[in-house]
Amino acid sequence: MAIPIAIGASDVLVVVDVQNDFCPGGNLAVPDGDAVIPPINRLAQLFANVVLTQDWHPAGHLSFASSHPGRAPFDTIAMPYGPQVLWPDHCIQETPGANFHFALDIPHAALVVRKGFRKAIDSYSAFCENDRTTPTGLAGYLRERGLVRAFFAGLAFDFCVRYSAEDAARGGFGAVVIEDACRGIDLGGSMAAARESFAVRGIACVTADAIAAA
Ligand SMILES: [Zn+2]
Repeated sequence: MAIPIAIGASDVLVVVDVQNDFCPGGNLAVPDGDAVIPPINRLAQLFANVVLTQDWHPAGHLSFASSHPGRAPFDTIAMPYGPQVLWPDHCIQETPGANFHFALDIPHAALVVRKGFRKAIDSYSAFCENDRTTPTGLAGYLRERGLVRAFFAGLAFDFCVRYSAEDAARGGFGAVVIEDACRGIDLGGSMAAARESFAVRGIACVTADAIAAA
């Protein structure tokens, strides 16, 4: 067995979008999505620094298929900033679907990053919206807090976790994805594409048992 990765004061766990709509019974349920919660709750105890992300759309968001007559969920359309997958309505601000799953238990999480709240721009990444120019502020937060290595877990592996980890690496942070604390959607080969991207960019993909307290 490999030497475990020791978690220290300059590491942060970023818990991506563990919200009701992405869990079974939700409007955009990721298969087996709630299975990420027990490992995330355990992992979070190893980290002094935890950030949560929350998908947070206004009603009528332009990433919803319902905003585009004649389009169906999971179609791809051209937005001014590039191709955009259309989703079922999900994570609408102040609805139960946008709430964190009740079983997520991380009282020491210090920051919630809300994303996707601009009507015309979707945001998969915790760092930067899908126009690739609008920052969420997370990079500044991590720098100011002296956090240099980010571990990612949550939903969905092949979208919001993928884009978040890529942007962390792009921003000069260490990036590690905890694969068994994620679940994916797998749309048109997106799981394989995510793994390939991680390999190309030097983003480590590990399992939760490879992580230990410092
Ligand atoms: Zn969304």
